[in-house]
Amino acid sequence: MTAEPGMVVDVTAVRGSFTLEAQLEIPEAGVLAVLGPNGSGKSTLLEVLAGLLPPQRGEVRWRGRTLSSADGRLVPPASRRVGLLAQDPLLFPHLTVRENVAFGLRARRERDAAPVADRWLERLGVAALAARRPRQLSGGQAARVALARALAAEPEVLLLDEPLAALDAAAAPELRQLLAEVLRETGLTTILVSHAVLDAALLADHVAVLREGRVVEQGRRADVLGAPRTEFTAAFVGVNLVPAGFGGLRAGAPAGPPQGSPAQVTRLRFRPGAVVVSEHPDGRENTWEATVRWLEPVTGGVRVRLATPDQPDVLADVDAAGVDQLRPGARVWAHVPVEAVQTI
Ligand code: ADP
Ligand code: MG
Repeated sequence: MTAEPGMVVDVTAVRGSFTLEAQLEIPEAGVLAVLGPNGSGKSTLLEVLAGLLPPQRGEVRWRGRTLSSADGRLVPPASRRVGLLAQDPLLFPHLTVRENVAFGLRARRERDAAPVADRWLERLGVAALAARRPRQLSGGQAARVALARALAAEPEVLLLDEPLAALDAAAAPELRQLLAEVLRETGLTTILVSHAVLDAALLADHVAVLREGRVVEQGRRADVLGAPRTEFTAAFVGVNLVPAGFGGLRAGAPAGPPQGSPAQVTRLRFRPGAVVVSEHPDGRENTWEATVRWLEPVTGGVRVRLATPDQPDVLADVDAAGVDQLRPGARVWAHVPVEAVQTI
């Protein structure tokens, strides 16, 4: 039998009134980001993969071997070489940092646990803290120690549950960068759960989007983030996806090879950065009237949410210098160049 690569997940799992219905193919030796809003089932998915929550239907396979299945077969969490770094890393308070990191190896009776632990502490920039107890660590330091502990246990699959969510704005970018380097170096098959699109953009090769316990979209990072095919994913990653006919818009080239006659074009997609907002119409094609709903900060400027009657909202990114007239409720004209509009 040829072993299939990576992890194949096809499960239904139930927790209270919540049902997770997940089909996923997770390529080996890469990072899959699982994105979704709070409560969409991301942590539940990781618990199923880690063996902490048995599925009610279906199975989880890794390299062709069944890890969990509904008929009761379940490789125990400690034997499956799937390392879970939970949302709350729960370092053992009575152990030193070094003992915490060596714990997984000691549990498997590996002799060289201490040097392996030291190597990971070094790599994650916290070797100087080896003798401390967890209560003597900052949030960022504790996150590094928890990551070192997960890596030192030498998992074949690494599950990371929002590893950056608890960090402050100063600590998160640094650890994100370190995580990117370490994941590239180790080549570990990694599933990274996040509600932040930035994490996927910087860390992932593939992306899956969860909504209400279901995978609504999955694929290569550039395809899912740059060219989402569902309204939900488009809204989540901040790309405009509107019905064909919206604002009388004309589109440029179709996205990808033609999939049928023009009559089958159902939606138009364009980026917020391509939308120009002005106070007066200037007679250009692809211009429509809209109302400013609200403004929010984005890197390098301001994102304006524009309302059009009976249509989905449209996002436009504008310079901070040009927002003085863009108060909520203001009537404006929005324009998007034909070549910036894709049909799907
Ligand atoms: P996410 O990680 O995407 O925020 P979770 O997987 O934690 O979402 O939760 C998914 C759903 O399951 C939520 O609606 C949550 O209220 C519910 N849930 C989480 N934990 C439990 C539990 N122990 N018992 C019952 N329901 C739970
Ligand atoms: Mg969660």
